[in-house]
Amino acid sequence: MTTSVEGVGAYKASMLEIVKRIGLENYGLANATMPSRSELEDRMISEAMDFVVEDEKRREESRKAKNIKPIVRKTATTVVESVNELNRADKQCTIYLSFEESLEWKAFLHALPKSERFRATVRRRLSLSLWKAHTQGTCLFCWFSTQMCMCEELERYKKELPNTVLQGKTPVTMLFHSDELMRSTNSGHIAAYLLDSPVRVWGLEEDDDLITHLPGVEEGEGHAVYNVSLYPEKGSPDISHFISNVTETGADARIHLILSDSTWGQALSLNRHIPREVTRVSLDIDETYESLFAHLRKRTRETGVSTLEATTMAVHQCLTAFGHEAEANLFNEVMVGAMKDFVDLKCLMKFTDAPFSKDDDQIDRLEERRDAYRKEMADTRYKRVNERMESDKESRKFLLPPVLNYCYCCDRVIGWHRMPEHVLGKGHRYALRLNPKCVPSEHSKEEVVHNFSRPMRAQKRDSAIDAHDVEE
Ligand SMILES: [Zn+2]
Ligand SMILES: [Zn+2]
Repeated sequence: MTTSVEGVGAYKASMLEIVKRIGLENYGLANATMPSRSELEDRMISEAMDFVVEDEKRREESRKAKNIKPIVRKTATTVVESVNELNRADKQCTIYLSFEESLEWKAFLHALPKSERFRATVRRRLSLSLWKAHTQGTCLFCWFSTQMCMCEELERYKKELPNTVLQGKTPVTMLFHSDELMRSTNSGHIAAYLLDSPVRVWGLEEDDDLITHLPGVEEGEGHAVYNVSLYPEKGSPDISHFISNVTETGADARIHLILSDSTWGQALSLNRHIPREVTRVSLDIDETYESLFAHLRKRTRETGVSTLEATTMAVHQCLTAFGHEAEANLFNEVMVGAMKDFVDLKCLMKFTDAPFSKDDDQIDRLEERRDAYRKEMADTRYKRVNERMESDKESRKFLLPPVLNYCYCCDRVIGWHRMPEHVLGKGHRYALRLNPKCVPSEHSKEEVVHNFSRPMRAQKRDSAIDAHDVEE
């Protein structure tokens, strides 16, 4: 992965910039670090700690009285462990790498002036999600795990796009809600990658400045740049109409499109921060259009299409309205190709069939990569659980009773400890085709399964004697 900002293009530069702003160094490398905790952070935490502890007690009591269970967000164990590890070292790391529910974070937030709390929250979210992405080996640019990284393919698609016309006529900015960055269900970053659009996050000071100071029109050299936000609201014109209106006079106009990758609720609040001078435009979506993302059955935008599709349609409609028909069609073709690859890979990662690719060799290669990756992840998990069980008595509870010893699909005993590896194997995959619903056979009802939980030797001897007694 490239870590120098120069010459990587606007999209990658903006991702690297976000990483830099939260102080994460060496993302993706073994020596990655977050800033240490400052004296000021320490002081603020200790100043407000008494108050927060008392406050928590009060809340707890009132919850008990009302019989309300607190909502606890589950964080992946690997992330919790890696954050704890950073904090175990002789120095604690920055308060921004905290979980929302931690008392220290609550104290820090309480000590901040009210006007600074929102930005602090955004910084905390970004610190945690980027650190999490780093510990899970996520590629900073395509947001797939590095083993499954599709940057190379994206670069190829990017080169095929009519880039001069794109950058010249319709530059795009992708605005993110801080909760959505590095979330693998998103597709807005793929659009940003292909179009080389900078990513902005609401709540980062520089980005807020930029967004809140956007004029409706900017005068360039011999041309005008119209800032428009794709946000359907009452009375908003569709993009094509807007463009025909501004080009009517024959003036050289450009459209700077602002798109937001967020849920509907978040888009509502992002929209409030964009100045009213910036025209809201809507998208003309053909009613017969079937989303390519239907296969992912994911949460989509309010219009039922993903951000990647919405971006493609918007830019396509802009290019067409500007009279760049040929470029518009080429653009669409390339984007649809990239989208299909993206959806195929997402489906393969979920162990479902790739809906678009007809290239069996390519699918085989991807599946092999995926399986190697999954095996590696399983190995790491086993190793971690093993290490913990050796040193920590509590963790031994994780030794579950033997479940899933039998593969009903292959109709044979596997053993729970080998099951994850088994289901990734060729034999099982072949059997799955013959028996996709894993219907248990008559034979499976008779099969005696060895006790894989390995009882203690003494216990085993005792039970052997018991069994002997019964037989006699
Ligand atoms: Zn990548
Ligand atoms: Zn099997």
